[in-house]
Amino acid sequence: MTASNEKSLNLALDGLRASLGASPHEKCPRCGRETLAKAIEALGSCYDCHREREQRREKLDWLRQESGLSAQEWRLSFASLQPWQHPALIRRLRVWRAENGKGLYIAGGLGVGKTHLAVCLLNQHIRSGPQRGMFLSYPRIFADLKADFGARRGQARQVLSRARGASLLVIDDLGAGAAPGWAESEFLPLLDWRAAERLPTVYTSNLALNGEAGLEMLSRAVSARLYDRIAGGVENPALLIMGRSLRGREVS
Ligand SMILES: [Zn+2]
Repeated sequence: MTASNEKSLNLALDGLRASLGASPHEKCPRCGRETLAKAIEALGSCYDCHREREQRREKLDWLRQESGLSAQEWRLSFASLQPWQHPALIRRLRVWRAENGKGLYIAGGLGVGKTHLAVCLLNQHIRSGPQRGMFLSYPRIFADLKADFGARRGQARQVLSRARGASLLVIDDLGAGAAPGWAESEFLPLLDWRAAERLPTVYTSNLALNGEAGLEMLSRAVSARLYDRIAGGVENPALLIMGRSLRGREVS
């Protein structure tokens, strides 16, 4: 709510109080405090609860802009997923909390819903604060860093800089698109910063993380330095989504 809106609402409420005098009171349905029945009728709660809701809504608006999520992605939640999609993983992710800053690595083939799950996790995290979380597309950030236009590169650097302090970062589609090459040197400080601050990062990828096969595939897509940062920053074993069912196990 803007300051002028808040002021006019306060004035209106003062007017209400004055004109009603010893008007009937009711318990606020949110906090239980006695308040003017008319205020509850107009606002659905007492004024304090109303202001709290407005402040949360404003903060969430800002967090949505910061998140890098589209309007459609912003609305995704575990509750909106069909119940037969990865029920075991959804149960686990709904209560997941990062320990010691370790994130997650979600691997699986195309179309199994790993990005969808990571977005739901991010949305849940942002709203639980509310706190700042960010979504980064791995192929997009490297395409931008390597772009011929300075403005696009500058924007990508700004995004990387903002991603440093996000309390949860999702890096989607790791290993896809053009190999990072020299642009990796712009990306590694982000992972180092987050590791030092113990801030968790969640990756999704078509490439397995663990085991020889995974290492071989992923090491073709990213450098050994980048692989070490990623593998060292996530819980082991990685989560592997097979088709419509999930098995959390080491990939071999
Ligand atoms: Zn209240």
